Amino acid sequence: MARRKKVYEGSAKILYEGPEPGTLIQYFKDDAAPAGDQADAPPQGALEGRGVLNNRLSEFFMAGLNAIGVPTHFIRRLNMREQLVRMAEILPLEVVVRNYAAGDLSRRLGIPEGMGLPRPIVEYYYKDEKLGNPLVAEEHIIAFGWANQQDLDDMVALALRVNDFLSGVMLGVGVRLMDFRLEVGRIWEGDFMRLIVADEISPDSCRLWDMRGLDTPDREGQVREPGPLADVYTELARRLGVLPSNVTHTPKPTLIN
Ligand code: ADP
Ligand code: MG
Repeated sequence: MARRKKVYEGSAKILYEGPEPGTLIQYFKDDAAPAGDQADAPPQGALEGRGVLNNRLSEFFMAGLNAIGVPTHFIRRLNMREQLVRMAEILPLEVVVRNYAAGDLSRRLGIPEGMGLPRPIVEYYYKDEKLGNPLVAEEHIIAFGWANQQDLDDMVALALRVNDFLSGVMLGVGVRLMDFRLEVGRIWEGDFMRLIVADEISPDSCRLWDMRGLDTPDREGQVREPGPLADVYTELARRLGVLPSNVTHTPKPTLIN
């Protein structure tokens, strides 16, 4: 294959220049990715097959969002590990939507994990790993020029639509979307700017609890408590029917370091 120009290499993905201006190729690695909870969870180890599954899963969610009119960067999947996306100017923020208390929110505010929130809560974290991606308020975002008020309004609307879509899709396969994080980017169409969902939507950006079989006691009469979905990459891909046929011989991703 012709050598491509690498634009960026992060912990989970490599970005290459795309075939046309305004496009990028996202290559999904197996390496450690920051885990589900946004700013607060420890990085997970590398998992063989994670990149392949995240590529498929992100394709599945982004294509679904595109289909219902929620704009995303996703254009098409190219192969097992790569997808073609629209290049966007990423806002230096992670937008987190929470439906149930967990992680950082539970720790900070003393709310028991698993408690339903009275309404979805949208939070912003400033994307700066050296600072540990700190939680910030709208005041900080506007004062420091990371986004303006219109962007924030658009981001909340976008994040809540993504939340409804993802929550519904997950619910359909017995999974509860506790919280997730999004990256949002700007694209221009002529003079018109709009915000789109960028980066990835995968188990690395969602906290997922397994709700299947909670009401059926096991042989010892024990009823399972709700908790994190086990083998999350493979299990979610399996339930959603997006397991690539040529990796089905791998029952689940295995630790490689
Ligand atoms: P990180 O370790 O910084 O999270 P990743 O390994 O997740 O990085 O690599 C993805 C990088 O690509 C992130 O910096 C993300 O902001 C950026 N990115 C994602 N989607 C787009 C896009 N459509 N246009 C430009 N940059 C993007
Ligand atoms: Mg990332």
